Amino acid sequence: MAIRTIVVDGDEILRKKCREVKEITPRIVETLEDMFDTMREAGGVGIAAPQVGVMRRMFIAEPEPEEVYYMINPVILETEGSQVGDEGCLSVPEMIGTVERPSKIKIEATDLSGERKVYEFEDFHARVMCHEYDHLEGILYTDKATNMREAVYDNEEDEE
Ligand SMILES: [Zn+2]
Repeated sequence: MAIRTIVVDGDEILRKKCREVKEITPRIVETLEDMFDTMREAGGVGIAAPQVGVMRRMFIAEPEPEEVYYMINPVILETEGSQVGDEGCLSVPEMIGTVERPSKIKIEATDLSGERKVYEFEDFHARVMCHEYDHLEGILYTDKATNMREAVYDNEEDEE
């Protein structure tokens, strides 16, 4: 268990396409565990492998507290509808922007136990999954966002 350094926008690592995970080795599991700790530490709802400098197709999402998804080699099978909402990213500190995303997605991925599963997500869950999936393609939400602006916190204690 370790906190890793989060790669920030401007580093070309975030612009590369990630490679498939061929096998869930102890090293892959360790990376995912570290990603989880790093995400929690940073207060994010998701983190993708390239954000800790690992160019593999995997991410973690926690769209609701304690509802954690380990998504290895994810494939988006279907998208439906659209929603518009604000997003932020651990790799783009202190900023938010408005992004259009599908309102529903069907996504297939391998979980930590190696099982391939199909999930359906809506609303905020779908947004988080699409955002993290984009990281694996070298896409940042800032590429799609309008109204990029500084994040303003309601409570000063949230600021770091
Ligand atoms: Zn992000």
